[in-house]
Amino acid sequence: MVRLSERVLALKPSATLAIDAKAKSLKDQGVDVINLSVGEPDFDTPETIKDACIRALKEGFTKYVATPGILSLREAICQKIKTDYGFEYKVDEVIVTTGAKQAIYNLLLALVNPGDEVLILSPYWVSYPEMVLCAGGVPKIVPSSFIKRFEPSLDDIKKAMSPRTVGIILNSPSNPTGLIYSQSFFRDLAEFLRSNNLWVISDDIYDKLRFDLKKPENILSTDPGLRDKVFLVNGVSKTYAMTGWRIGWALGPREVISACAKIQGQSTSHATSFAQKGAEAALKLSDEVVMDMVRTFTRRAELLTQELHKIQELEFIPPQGAFYFFVKVSAYYGKVSPTGKRIVNSISLADYLLEEAKVAIVPGIAFGEDDFIRISFALSEGALLEACKRIREALSKLS
Ligand code: PMP
Ligand code: GLU
Repeated sequence: MVRLSERVLALKPSATLAIDAKAKSLKDQGVDVINLSVGEPDFDTPETIKDACIRALKEGFTKYVATPGILSLREAICQKIKTDYGFEYKVDEVIVTTGAKQAIYNLLLALVNPGDEVLILSPYWVSYPEMVLCAGGVPKIVPSSFIKRFEPSLDDIKKAMSPRTVGIILNSPSNPTGLIYSQSFFRDLAEFLRSNNLWVISDDIYDKLRFDLKKPENILSTDPGLRDKVFLVNGVSKTYAMTGWRIGWALGPREVISACAKIQGQSTSHATSFAQKGAEAALKLSDEVVMDMVRTFTRRAELLTQELHKIQELEFIPPQGAFYFFVKVSAYYGKVSPTGKRIVNSISLADYLLEEAKVAIVPGIAFGEDDFIRISFALSEGALLEACKRIREALSKLS
């Protein structure tokens, strides 16, 4: 038997990807599953983006390119961040990666030493703690509560710190809650960060998907003075419906970005050449294309709010962005299904909904909160209505 590394033995598989794979395989077997699990826009990638990629392929843009990404894409990223936030970045302060996922992973490998602690705000995206572990660090979860809109106080953050704390990961709008941190949260945190030696990874992957259609914001727009401590992560997956293209990026202080390039040069080399051409075309599209998608997500969020309110036992805060509802389902814990299975936690509830309602959702425990489930609403209104009806019927059978 080959002995696996302790690193991989300590690692949990991605719950979001695992449930998505299960739902897709049931669908392939002919089961009528509605997949509300994975965070993946249902829209197709806009044609102009595809055309740019096809043109690149036809022109033979199929060879190795620069490790940190093709220059024209890095220039487009710098231009975009300037338009969106007013920040000035140079091309050597950007690295293009294989999805935002690799941007975060590269950064953690570049910044974390064994035993270093990284603060992660609960509920969190499934991959943060696992990536910190993979980098040899220790994820320190900062608790929050439903009543406080999942926004921890500065005291909660301070309590989770120790002399080994080196950084913090932020994500707003958040996966899994769809909520946006308040201005006062950002202001308090920014003030604290000014006098503390912590770096910040600001995962801004949903920054343009806000239902108030306001300009995107993050810790750096709150306090540009934090520039030498903040790494901005983003990508085309969510904003332009390009999940399979695997293009993301990180912006930040040159020294760390070139450390990421060193890591990338010894692992994946660079993101796919012709996909980078597609991403460049995406960034040059008018914002109207994105706003159209946002308006659709807004309508779906309103629809789901209305439908889920019909189930009295459920509690939730309607999302302000992204495409997720984080729904409190613990009122059902302790109840029994018609086949005699007891619902005891978010995993058993998710299993029950898949079996009984043929609706796939992600158990909240994957995001650190076992009283909840995450519903992704990146599906048509018709599918969402049908899913809500099935969920309502299945839940009403629990006694
Ligand atoms: N951060 C968050 C919060 C996400 O939900 C995702 C989902 N994929 C990512 C990063 C990674 O995105 P990408 O597809 O660009 O790797
Ligand atoms: N981020 C998305 C989600 O949370 C996609 C899957 C993944 O990469 O985890 O569903």
